[in-house]
Amino acid sequence: MEAIVRILVDNRVGMVREPYLARHGLAVVVEVPSEDFAVLFDTGPSTDVLRHNLEVAGMDPEFDAIVISHEHWDHTGGLEAVSGGRVIEPGGGEVDLLDGVIVATETFEGTYDGEVMPERSLVVGDLALVGCCHFELGELLEGYEPRRVLGGLHLMDQPRERLDRVVETLREHGVRRVYACHCTGIRESAYLADRVGGEPGYVPLAVRVEL
Ligand SMILES: [Zn+2]
Ligand SMILES: [Zn+2]
Repeated sequence: MEAIVRILVDNRVGMVREPYLARHGLAVVVEVPSEDFAVLFDTGPSTDVLRHNLEVAGMDPEFDAIVISHEHWDHTGGLEAVSGGRVIEPGGGEVDLLDGVIVATETFEGTYDGEVMPERSLVVGDLALVGCCHFELGELLEGYEPRRVLGGLHLMDQPRERLDRVVETLREHGVRRVYACHCTGIRESAYLADRVGGEPGYVPLAVRVEL
């Protein structure tokens, strides 16, 4: 079976295709058409933008599961615009969502502004989705061995040395494609794609995953 992973809300005003709205935040839809199964990973900054972009994409606001990566407003703000299955919040262990091939990961202990920030990822076959990656990326790569990474890596305006360390971590763990977006920064997303492979993520980039 095949999953289609689509970035639905993201920051990229310059790259976004009308009539999608671009806002600071992240929401990603994972659909498995053959199973009539859909998961929403994060919900963007507001109900308005999520509703609008779902409508433009021609998608139903009902999901089998909604996974929240971490408790930041730009990931939780649209929650009330969607309904359906269970909401999986950060905290606690791994949750199997579909036959062991779509899994909400264990909660990683990240930090933000000196505070502990628990954060989950969503693994879809060989692709790992990350919200903001306030935790050590290497932990996710080591634990789940994805070959591709999509989402926010919190690298906006970071020095070149920091970017090179992330490139090294990705390569070391066998990641071959990066679709960085949201808090990664445009220049930084392009840098990662250039060094590792892949392309900068933008709405409504769709990535196919064989499950
Ligand atoms: Zn964020
Ligand atoms: Zn965050």
